[in-house]
Amino acid sequence: MKNGKRIGIMGGTFNPIHNGHLLLAQRAQEQVLLDKVLFMPSGNSYMKENVLETQKRVDMVALAIRKYPDFELSMIEAQKSGNTYTFETLKFLTRSNPQEQYFFIIGADILFQIEQWRNPEQIFQRAVLVCAVRDDYDIDAIHKKGNVLAASGADIIYLNMPRLDISSTDIRAKVRSSLSISELVPPEVAHYIEQEHLYYEED
Ligand code: NAP
Repeated sequence: MKNGKRIGIMGGTFNPIHNGHLLLAQRAQEQVLLDKVLFMPSGNSYMKENVLETQKRVDMVALAIRKYPDFELSMIEAQKSGNTYTFETLKFLTRSNPQEQYFFIIGADILFQIEQWRNPEQIFQRAVLVCAVRDDYDIDAIHKKGNVLAASGADIIYLNMPRLDISSTDIRAKVRSSLSISELVPPEVAHYIEQEHLYYEED
């Protein structure tokens, strides 16, 4: 039994970070009693195309979490060259900090993708999955999938969350159409997007 801190990992492309990501991390922190949450922007998001340059996504994450004392920016993946894989990140973290207990925070969609990632069983060995079940999801399908993953070693905690109809894709589309995003992202992030003139052109 590990007796160190309980550390959440909120990984994401964050293109851009939005209020849904922040709420997910807050809910995880409250419900799983995490000592802190590492916000970890991806470097090379090899499964996504035309992603905004890393430094700008990192800047937005730093601005968004500034007011949360238990949220911390982690540059592990952003600074890595080449593709980043969650199993490698967790390997690095658990070897560097063997006492800490890690919780990988995800939306339920990822439960249905994680088996296609590289070495998922190594992810399951090194972190508990904290999975957001938004209240419009098919709970039976999620639990069924969860049971399949549990048979491969996954330890899953399900989080109750209200549905927040926000996605990074929608935010980029709104900016392109000159629609307001003030309800979707923290004000500092909206200001940064405007100042840096981000997302005004097609992805
Ligand atoms: P993302 O699009 O920026 O989303 C980050 C997380 O926020 C996801 O779990 C997403 O869940 C959740 N989310 C988004 N909108 C939400 C909302 N409105 N309310 C609540 N939750 C919301 O990041 P991503 O590209 O999916 O990457 C997530 C993590 O997976 C990163 O750490 C990345 O490195 C990792 N990853 C690893 C591999 C690999 O190891 N091979 C491959 C791909 C990704 P939903 O998807 O359910 O919306």
